[in-house]
Amino acid sequence: MKHVVMYSGGVGSYMAAKLVANKVPKQDVILLFSDTLNEDEDLYRFLEESVAEIGVELVKLCDGRDIWQVFKDVRYLGNSRVAPCTRILKQEPAKKWVIDNFKPEEVTLYVGIDWTESHRLEKVKNNWAPFIVYAPLCDEPYISKDEIFLELKQRGIKIPRLYEMGFSHNNCGGFCVRAGQAHFRNLLFSLPDRYRYHEYKEEELINYLQKDVSILKRQRNYKNEKITLKQLREEIESQSENIDLFDFGGCGCFIEDPRASYNYCYV
Ligand code: SF4
Repeated sequence: MKHVVMYSGGVGSYMAAKLVANKVPKQDVILLFSDTLNEDEDLYRFLEESVAEIGVELVKLCDGRDIWQVFKDVRYLGNSRVAPCTRILKQEPAKKWVIDNFKPEEVTLYVGIDWTESHRLEKVKNNWAPFIVYAPLCDEPYISKDEIFLELKQRGIKIPRLYEMGFSHNNCGGFCVRAGQAHFRNLLFSLPDRYRYHEYKEEELINYLQKDVSILKRQRNYKNEKITLKQLREEIESQSENIDLFDFGGCGCFIEDPRASYNYCYV
C-alpha cells in the first residue's frame, strides 16, 4: 500500500505528511506537489527543506501553464465561486497521476486540511471516490497552526515567508482568485510589485475577453458590484472606507468539486 500526500507547500500539508510518515514505512510515502508556476520563490526552498526533513519521495507535477494562461485558454476569469486554475493546474494533474499509477486499493490519499475546516472533508472524499482520502489534521490531537510553526522551528526549518507576512496560506505566491479584499490589501502592502503584476494581468484579460468581469465582487446597496484590482488599489491608496477589512476569502485548492468548474466559458 502506498500513501500519497497532496503536498501544497503549506504548513498543513507538511504536518499531515509528517504524521503519515511517522505511521507507515517511509519508502511507501509519496508527496505530490502540483506547480502553478505562480508560486512564491520561498515555497521552493520550503519544499526542498521540508521534504529532506521528512525523508520521503517528492513527485512534482506541472501543466506548463500559469493561472493567467489558464484563464485565457478557458476564456474565464477565476473568482471566489469558480476557479478553473485549481481544477486545471492542481486537481486534474494530481488525479491523472494517481489514476495512472495506482488502483484505488493500492493507495491511500491524504490532504492537509485541518479540524477547523473538517466540514470540507466530505466534499474532498466525494471528489476522490473510489480512492480513500484521509485528513490527519482533522483527528485528535487537533494540532494548531502555531504548533506546526513550533515543530518547524524545532526542526530548523524556516516557515514559508508568506505566513510571516500575514497570509493564511502559501499558495500562488500570496495571490488567489478566491481571496477577499482584506487579503488583496495585504498583498498590496506586503508584495506591491506582485499585486501590480496581477492587476496588470486582470486588466489584460478583461481587454482580451472584452467582458465586464473582475476577480472581486462586493455587495453595496443590496447589489453585487464588480471591483477590479486596479479599483481596489486606488481605493486602498485613497484610504476609502469602502474596503471590507474582514473579507479575507479562502483558498479551496483540492477542496472544491472539480465538476463545478466545467460550465464556465463566457463564449
Ligand atoms: S491558490 Fe487560488 S489562484 Fe491559485 S490555483 Fe488555487 S484557487 Fe487558483
